[in-house]
Amino acid sequence: MIRISDILDRMAEHNPEADLSVISRAYVYSARIHEGKVRLSGEPYLSHPLEVAGILADMGLDVTSVAAGLLHDVVEDNHAALAEIGTLFGPELVHLVDGVTKISTLAFKSSKERQSENIRKMILAMADDLRVILIKLADRVHNMRTIQFHTGQKQIEIARETLDIYAPIANRLGIHWIKKDLEDLSFCVLEPEKYKQIEQFVAAGREEREEYVTHVKGVIEKKMAENGLPGKVSGRYKHFYSIKDKMARQNLRLEDIYDLIAFRVILDTVAQCYLALGIVHDTWRPVPGKFKDYVANPKPNMYQSLHTTVVGPEGSRMEVQIRTWEMDKVARQGIAAHWSYKEGGRVDEKTKRTFAWIQNIVEHHKDIKDPKEFLDSVRIELFPDEIYVFTPAGEVIALPQGASPVDFAFAIHTGVGERCLGAKVNGRMVPLKHVLKTGDSVEIITQKTPRPSKDWLSFVKTAKARNKIRQWFKAEEWERALALGRDMCERTFRRHKQSLGAALKSEDLGRVLGELGQKSPDELLASVGFGKLTSLQVLRKFVPREELAPGKEETTGLAGPRKGEATVYVRGMDDILVRFGKCCNPVPGDPITGYITRGFGVTIHRANCRNAEGLDPERRIEVSWGGEESRAFPVRVHVEGKARTSLLSDISGVISKMRYDTLDLQMRTGEGNFVDIYLTVSVPGTDHLDRVIRAILKVPGVEKARRVSR
Ligand code: MN
Repeated sequence: MIRISDILDRMAEHNPEADLSVISRAYVYSARIHEGKVRLSGEPYLSHPLEVAGILADMGLDVTSVAAGLLHDVVEDNHAALAEIGTLFGPELVHLVDGVTKISTLAFKSSKERQSENIRKMILAMADDLRVILIKLADRVHNMRTIQFHTGQKQIEIARETLDIYAPIANRLGIHWIKKDLEDLSFCVLEPEKYKQIEQFVAAGREEREEYVTHVKGVIEKKMAENGLPGKVSGRYKHFYSIKDKMARQNLRLEDIYDLIAFRVILDTVAQCYLALGIVHDTWRPVPGKFKDYVANPKPNMYQSLHTTVVGPEGSRMEVQIRTWEMDKVARQGIAAHWSYKEGGRVDEKTKRTFAWIQNIVEHHKDIKDPKEFLDSVRIELFPDEIYVFTPAGEVIALPQGASPVDFAFAIHTGVGERCLGAKVNGRMVPLKHVLKTGDSVEIITQKTPRPSKDWLSFVKTAKARNKIRQWFKAEEWERALALGRDMCERTFRRHKQSLGAALKSEDLGRVLGELGQKSPDELLASVGFGKLTSLQVLRKFVPREELAPGKEETTGLAGPRKGEATVYVRGMDDILVRFGKCCNPVPGDPITGYITRGFGVTIHRANCRNAEGLDPERRIEVSWGGEESRAFPVRVHVEGKARTSLLSDISGVISKMRYDTLDLQMRTGEGNFVDIYLTVSVPGTDHLDRVIRAILKVPGVEKARRVSR
């Protein structure tokens, strides 16, 4: 078991000036919390945080990360600990410990969702400080190293999760040694036989291969020396998981894998790297298509190297990686290299250039000179445009930043989106335009019949939701237009003693469709519903004017728009004549709903009108107030107050002073000295009405004033 003094020694060595007392204090506190607990291995529990802290110290991380490593499991053991950590160690440590704890409690149910790239991204996005991930990775490395103490089934679960989630995260962050360790440790658990097979194969040919490695090394070193290139050459076995992976990908047998060993040449400068590459290509024939220049084009995880495969001595292929010492450090430590303390305490210009990639994802990177400050302020911006939320089943859905429950519903399934009625986020009801955050758990409440709302278009962020909503309305509006158009035509035909049904079956149909530019009878009727044609136009195409029985009226309420009066927008139907319900007198600004009235277009009611509630929901249609309003609407207002002379004239006076028309005014004297006044005022909208009511309330003697239905 590693001792705290070893960790302190390592930290002091990396960073002689740092104040290490926080590490000692974290150790004492962690020992107290974990006291008496043992691991499955039988060792004291404390050995685990110590090992994790040791790994973090080896990674060259800062004092805070190492202290957080010591504390990373105390919250799981003692729920009160987080507040206490705050008091004892300050907010930064709370932040790190809390982050690690949160990620540890995420449970991924199916292997399918574990493998999802979304999970990895979500974890990265959830930790707003990358050190949280580094601590979690160190935790997982030690847990995998001691996995043999778990039961078989548990081992498989942990190994699977490690391979699906944590190894790819390590890879993305460029921490190659962790990726390698996690992959091999998991591989050993999941496919023990295959692992052993590779192990034995490698062991069997080891001696022979040593000679080969020594020979190749010797050749490269000699040629480099001849060219005055200083550098180190090494040959090492590829890790077992990558060998297995290669066998699987290329369908090879173990015997067919020649490049078990990768050679590595490390030099001082980039220029030397390309010279060394030239030497290697000069000595052995390069395999076409195998040269990769990750120096000029670094991998997204910052990795830089020249890779080439050549046909080596004995005709076997071998891979050679060439890089500088700086690149080698990044290749080994990845993003963690950035948290290391540097000699002299400054991030030099060259290092900054090397880390151009990370710099792009770091906030405020331009202004930060001090590495400590730089470390503290680094936040994950790897995927700034995406959020990751959970379905009730624990599946992760990726959505754009700013997405709503409606986007989520359509992402699940179009049918869910169209039936979406409400949403719960983390168990609480939210409005449908609620903005989702990474980590939210979202549940959609659906209704039986699909009924999207046009409002949704104002806040959805995904193209899918937008397109599906539009499509739905297009289809639905067409259906309604068709029904309305059929109604209107039937009525017009009947009034002139004609039959629409017969007309549509007659041989005139083709000619009429052609003359009116319609493709089918349905399109013809829908065009009437949409107001593109009038029913009378259709009738006259079928029956010449002189043969027409005179109708009761030439135009009906549905004949077409009257200019200046289209104040209500009926969904999808331009220029439909609307009437206003006499029962509730809707005024612009009121929530309204429309009903298709047989033969009379659409009647508008206030959304809460009792009469409208009794009407057939099938005939309901979405309506909204049109833009600029010039027309005024009658509204009934009930005023209560104390009787006095000139009360009525004072009230009508304030109304006319505001330039509204009073259409009707009645007064009834009630009990005692009280009077009821009913008046009808003509206003263009609810905001105007509010102003009128406020003014009436200011009239002396008035005690109440409110809008009434009738
Ligand atoms: Mn742990």
